[in-house]
Amino acid sequence: MVVVDRTDQLLPGFLPEVQDDLRRQLDKLGVELHLGTGLTAPPTIDAGRAGHVAVTTDHGDEIVADIWFRAFGVRTTTDYLADGTLTPLTEQATVPVTERLNVQGYDHVYAIGDIAALPDPKMASYAMTHAEVVVQNITAQLAGDQPGTVWSPTAERRILLPLGTYGGAGQLPTPDGAAPATAQMVYERKGADLFTAKFASRFNNPRRPINDRD
Ligand SMILES: Cc1cc2nc3c(=O)[nH]c(=O)nc-3n(C[C@H](O)[C@H](O)[C@H](O)COP(=O)(O)OP(=O)(O)OC[C@H]3O[C@@H](n4cnc5c(N)ncnc54)[C@H](O)[C@@H]3O)c2cc1C
Repeated sequence: MVVVDRTDQLLPGFLPEVQDDLRRQLDKLGVELHLGTGLTAPPTIDAGRAGHVAVTTDHGDEIVADIWFRAFGVRTTTDYLADGTLTPLTEQATVPVTERLNVQGYDHVYAIGDIAALPDPKMASYAMTHAEVVVQNITAQLAGDQPGTVWSPTAERRILLPLGTYGGAGQLPTPDGAAPATAQMVYERKGADLFTAKFASRFNNPRRPINDRD
């Protein structure tokens, strides 16, 4: 397997120990890294389709493969709000929100997750943190109280990056700041089932959590 990325670091912005751990595990799996470079031209076959892939990096390396996957070019899907009827979008096509995560100009409309104009990384774990703020505020409104829960930026970056079921690297917040997560921790928290048990139980599914199985 070959990974090409324009950034010259794995997991930029995360702890060096986390970056080193990931690199060590990728090396062990035989994954070839081409960092700090891009492709001179995109592959001629569609992403995700088996075929003959032959590309050249800006550094002049030739890569031949049987399939390629696109892991770039993610954008926020807010086309349906682009007419500004709800609120004018930001330059990044995100929805401006207040500190209580109300859409600007509305007391009873909220925006969370990727579409919210917040500096948080566009990641599910941050969307869940936003949801907790909004749940508190809607609950207060339903009780006739003033919604008073505010979003606050997360100082420490966090990630759980499984590599297969049992491998992986990660970084988690602790009272003393960010700390690396071991592969065992990544397995236990995410790699074992990619959160399916957690969400099944949250949606009141009787399926037992994977860790409780005999
Ligand atoms: C390949 C990939 C891997 C990722 N891996 C991770 C990871 O490991 N960890 C992590 O924390 N984050 C990860 N993310 C990011 C994570 O998926 C997003 O940050 C998260 O899903 C954002 O949640 P959301 O609810 O804001 O938006 P979404 O999950 O995108 O949900 C928005 C929903 O709105 C629907 N929708 C859109 N337009 C309309 C419309 N007009 N009408 C009705 N419905 C509409 C969409 O279909 C979608 O279901 C990954 C993202 C990608 C693309």
